Amino acid sequence: MRFYNTLTRRLEEFRPIAEGRVGLYTCGPTVYDFPHIGNYRSYLFEDLVKRFLAFLGLRVTHVMNITDIDDKTIRKASELQVPLAEVTRKYIDAFHADLRALNALPADHYPRATEHIAEMQALIARLLEQGFAYEKDGSVYFRIERFPEYGRLANLDKGSLKIGAAVDADEYEKEAVQDFVLWKGKKPGEPSWPAPFGEGRPGWHIECSAMSMKYLGPHFDIHMGGVDNIFPHHENEIAQSQCANGVTFVNYWLHCQHLIVDGQKMSKSLGNFYTLGDLLSKGYAPMAVRYLLISSHYRKLLNFTLEGLEMAGQALARVKNFAFSLRNVEGEGDADPELAAALDKALAAFRDQLADDFNVSGALGAMFDLIAEVNPRLSALTRADAAAALAWLERINSVLGVLEPDERTALDAEIEARIALREKARREKDYARADEIRAELRRQGIALIDTPSGVKWKRE
Ligand SMILES: [Zn+2]
Repeated sequence: MRFYNTLTRRLEEFRPIAEGRVGLYTCGPTVYDFPHIGNYRSYLFEDLVKRFLAFLGLRVTHVMNITDIDDKTIRKASELQVPLAEVTRKYIDAFHADLRALNALPADHYPRATEHIAEMQALIARLLEQGFAYEKDGSVYFRIERFPEYGRLANLDKGSLKIGAAVDADEYEKEAVQDFVLWKGKKPGEPSWPAPFGEGRPGWHIECSAMSMKYLGPHFDIHMGGVDNIFPHHENEIAQSQCANGVTFVNYWLHCQHLIVDGQKMSKSLGNFYTLGDLLSKGYAPMAVRYLLISSHYRKLLNFTLEGLEMAGQALARVKNFAFSLRNVEGEGDADPELAAALDKALAAFRDQLADDFNVSGALGAMFDLIAEVNPRLSALTRADAAAALAWLERINSVLGVLEPDERTALDAEIEARIALREKARREKDYARADEIRAELRRQGIALIDTPSGVKWKRE
């Protein structure tokens, strides 16, 4: 399979570092508000990539961070005059509920920034020791002139760059390339932690370097995010990680394009700003939203319209009707080898399209071609044929994730998956994570019971 690597600006064949395994890091939400559908476009593209890697037989370890401390979360807490943790808990819960509704597979780890301050401090200390960082007025900054590769990911023209004074803000423009902040000196009214280099709090960029390193090691396969993450966030992650570790940070960088609404940039003042909740309350189905958000190419701008969402629902209905008809086939007899061959061919086409820089429309085309070919022959199918076609659809849907199994079974499977993650955390002696999962399940009304034959659960 090949895809476009932002770092090299060309299509590259994907080769994992360790055979059969993939380390995947995706920048998660900053939990100060409900994500909008543009954010979910990125998260669902990441989910599609992860599902496709699994479809190819690769074992993916997926880490998605939760930024629960930064300029935005602090600003929101101070506006509302409530503790930071109260704001972030609300939006973390909302985020997970949205991901479930959109049928995104859970990540293996959701590290929270506030729970990894020690790792961030250790990383900053290493950068200070090696002269890649310096202290000024109680804060610590990264010295970008010490990293000649700075600007490679964002393709900055180094010749014309003027390096400005050190900057305290987490976000800034390409025109203002500056030494960026790793640790922000304590300010009144802001949460802070004691540190050898002075009490304060982490900058946003150091969070992802420290947390990706902890869960995936200093060198891993794929890092993803939205195009707005390329500069300065991902550029800064590369600088921090490579200077601290002396090895390549990430082999492949994939970035998902923006979404616009009715041809315009989404904004609250234009009234074209949608969260998932906004769309669901208008009566749209979450699976139609998922279908629409994943169905155009990730490197192209997606123009979201409610009409497009209606059409996504109709396309999805064709697939569901096909599945429904197959389940009701009653013909007796052997399986038709011609049908089996057509299914194999369609699955190979589906795979080849996705393996070519995630050409989703080509892959959907392969699926609909097969459906159109079989639909007129439904009455002639045997049960064996229908079972083969349903198994084919199941394989396709393991990547697209747009068909819901029976709602209740889906929920049960998801709870089982959470319990398995907790068991894994316990085996790895990550008791904090295990307790966190137990607490999350408890908030959903699920109680865990440890029994001699393993963990059981019940609804309370
Ligand atoms: Zn990040």
